Amino acid sequence: MHVTRVIVDRNAGFCGGVRRAIRGTEKLLSKQLEAREDRRIVSYGQLVHNREVTDGLSAGGLKPLESLEEAAPGDTVVLRTHGISPQEQRLLRSRGLAFRDFTCPRVKKVHEQIREKREAGYRIVIVGDPGHPEVRAHLGHAGETGVVLSVPQDAERLPVDAKIAVFAQTTITPQSFQEILDALEHRGLEMAVVNTLCPFVMKRQRWIAKYSRIADASLILGGRNSSNTRKLHALAAANGPAFHLSRPEELEVDEVLQYPVVALTAGASTSDRTIREVIGRLEAAGARIERR
Ligand code: SF4
Repeated sequence: MHVTRVIVDRNAGFCGGVRRAIRGTEKLLSKQLEAREDRRIVSYGQLVHNREVTDGLSAGGLKPLESLEEAAPGDTVVLRTHGISPQEQRLLRSRGLAFRDFTCPRVKKVHEQIREKREAGYRIVIVGDPGHPEVRAHLGHAGETGVVLSVPQDAERLPVDAKIAVFAQTTITPQSFQEILDALEHRGLEMAVVNTLCPFVMKRQRWIAKYSRIADASLILGGRNSSNTRKLHALAAANGPAFHLSRPEELEVDEVLQYPVVALTAGASTSDRTIREVIGRLEAAGARIERR
């Protein structure tokens, strides 16, 4: 009978951008409650890709909207870490809506860099998921000729005489970014590459790539709609069995404890409470916890 060692990523959980957005929104909600105002606080989309966190914010009074058109006069609109396009910024202003901008400073910097390259005459190429809100906002800043590439074959869509500046969605893997850069280079395009991968996310990816190799199985905590969590899971699954839990209740303790060594990390929008709860249940069942 073995005692399972669970190696926990000591930096797992909220990144700086997500922590800032959640804390800021919580403050806004509690001020609203104290002031007993009946103005609505709404968010443009779910604030983070994590059900447990968004359920807590909804219980505190936050109402997520699908589109800015749904906001009513008097609402305060919370903008999430992914940012918005210039068109959406204009819409907010033209409708006179109050807003609190929690766009991650890293994402804001990407918007500035996109604008600079566009003004210098480059056609903007964004590597990432075209459906992701961060990428849609980047594309808005890229102007009419901006394009999103998600797989290397997409490089064929660009004319050979294009002068391009290439940016990455902040949460993709360096490998998938590089594959598309290679495909663009292969076509002989004149290009400037701006590395916009988020260092926090890269660190988590490097951690799971290393420890999922050392461990017999991996445990990844985070929303199923969270792009960075899904990538952590894919990296872990490449090295062995990998569980993806969106909530602590999904944990099957016996299944996990059949492995002698388990690596555990979490996506950037996973709360400390979720991580603590999962670790607590494993520890209570006899696992030995180590933080690396
Ligand atoms: S993952 Fe990085 S870029 Fe995205 S919100 Fe967090 S710190 Fe900002």
